[in-house]
Amino acid sequence: VTRTPALTLRRPWTACFTDIPGPAAKTVENRSWVTRYRGDVYLHAGQRFDSNAVDLANRIWASSSSCWTPAEGVRFHLATDEPVLTADPKAYPAGVVAVAELYDICQAGLATFGSFNPCECGPWAFPGQAHWKFRNVRKLREAVYCRGAQQLWALPADVEEIVRKQMPAVTS
Ligand SMILES: [Zn+2]
Repeated sequence: VTRTPALTLRRPWTACFTDIPGPAAKTVENRSWVTRYRGDVYLHAGQRFDSNAVDLANRIWASSSSCWTPAEGVRFHLATDEPVLTADPKAYPAGVVAVAELYDICQAGLATFGSFNPCECGPWAFPGQAHWKFRNVRKLREAVYCRGAQQLWALPADVEEIVRKQMPAVTS
């Protein structure tokens, strides 16, 4: 039996997977390392909040979506006037927030430097990084808090049980 591994991301990157609607959502995670594992991964939002990433993420997804407009550094939805990614850390719960399928890792970017990307992994893929490609992102109704860790790691059994109660589709 292979347990579903967890991957910790700094906030707000997890919200880019779960809270950006439509095709502009983040589906690529940048890592300097690779794994042979393929399958479901728990996306874990760590305690660390990367405030610089809010603006970067807003620019990335705004550049790939036509239904948003920039105003004072925050992107607002044209229909609702709501900013999607705010700079308030409290807007981003820590803990396990979603399950997503890791189906491929592109290593074309690992050998590149500067701003050139040799692949077509989209605007969320950064040069010089391996591009972990996700699909079938399933956001939990409520984040399940626990501490994060490096690399791929196993959730504590009691935490995973709570997560699985929210995720009947997760297979073992
Ligand atoms: Zn790539």
